[in-house]
Amino acid sequence: MTDAPPLDESRIGGTPLLDLDLDVSCEVYAKPEWYNLHAQPFGGGSVKSRIARSMLDAAEADGALAPGSLVVEPSSGNTGTALARLGVARGYDVEIVMPEEAPEQKADAIRAAGGTVTYAPDYEAMLALADRRVAERDAYMPDQYANPANPGVHERTTGPEVHAQTDGRVTAFVAGAGSGGTVTGVGRALRERGDVAVVGYEPAEPRHGIDGLKYVRGPRFDDPDVYARDELDDVLALPTADAYYEARRLRERYAERDPDIHATGQYDRATVREHLRVAGEFLVGPSSGGALAAVRRLADAGRLTSEDVAVVPFPDRGDRYADIALWDDYL
Ligand code: PMP
Repeated sequence: MTDAPPLDESRIGGTPLLDLDLDVSCEVYAKPEWYNLHAQPFGGGSVKSRIARSMLDAAEADGALAPGSLVVEPSSGNTGTALARLGVARGYDVEIVMPEEAPEQKADAIRAAGGTVTYAPDYEAMLALADRRVAERDAYMPDQYANPANPGVHERTTGPEVHAQTDGRVTAFVAGAGSGGTVTGVGRALRERGDVAVVGYEPAEPRHGIDGLKYVRGPRFDDPDVYARDELDDVLALPTADAYYEARRLRERYAERDPDIHATGQYDRATVREHLRVAGEFLVGPSSGGALAAVRRLADAGRLTSEDVAVVPFPDRGDRYADIALWDDYL
C-alpha cells in the first residue's frame, strides 16, 4: 500500500491547444498531453493518463478489480507511469514490467508514484514475464493493446476536444501509433464530425528510438486489436532521425519565445505558459517530433495545403528523455 497523496483525476483531459508557427504550408496545432494530471503529485502526466483512468474505470465497472487487487502491465513507460499513479491512488498495488532498455526516468516515475518495477531483458521477455505474474498472483492486466477503453477514451474526450478547440476547422489529424489507441479513437471522433484526413505514422526501422511506439513493429504487436489501421487515410513509415530532428528544430524555433496558446482546455493561459517549458526550454518527446515530421512530409508532398488545419498530439514532454540521443547531435 502507499502513502501517496490523493490524486485529482479531474486533472485528466481538457489539455490545451498550441498554435505552432512552423515553416510549412498548412496551419499546425499541437495538443500537449503532459498537462494531464497537471500540478498533481510526481510531476507531469502524458497522453496515457487518459487511458489509465478509462481502463481502471472499465475494470471496476466489470468487477475485475477489488480493493487491494494487483494491477500488472507490461509497459516501457508512460502507460506504466499513469497506471501506477492512478492505480496506487485508488488503493491498488501496481507492478509494471519493463524492458531493461526503457529510459531510467520512467522507472523512477513509476516508483515515485508507489508502483514497483520488474525488469525483463527485452520486449518479448517482458510480455512473457507479465503474463506469468498475472497467472501467479491472480492479477489484473489492463492490456492497452486489446482494451477498447483505450481508443474509447480518445473517441469520447481527445477527439471532441480537438474538434471544439479548432472551432471545427480541423482537416487533418496526424499521430504516431504505439497501441494505435490515440489515432484510432481521435480519428473516429473527428470523422464523425466532418471531413478529416486521419494519418498515422509508424517507426520505419525495426530497431528505432521513437519511445512509446516500440511495439507496433514487434512480433506480437504488428496488429494490436485496438489499432484500426484500415480506418486511416494513410500510414507513413518514419525514420527516427526525422522525429529527433523535428523535436530539436522545435526547441530551436522556440528558444526565445513561446508558441501561441490558442485554446486552453481546463487551464488559463498563465498556467499553461508556466508549464510549457522545462528549465526555460520548449522540449517535446520523440513521438511529438515524429508527428511534426509526418506533417512536414505531407505538406512537402502537397497533400496538406494552405487550406488545411492539421492537429498533432504531443504525447509527452522531452525532459523524460535526458538519457537518450534525442538532444544530442543525433544526425
Ligand atoms: N508517444 C508516446 C510517448 C507514448 O507513450 C505513446 C503510447 N505508448 C504513444 C506516443 C502512442 O500512443 P498510442 O498508444 O495511443 O498509439
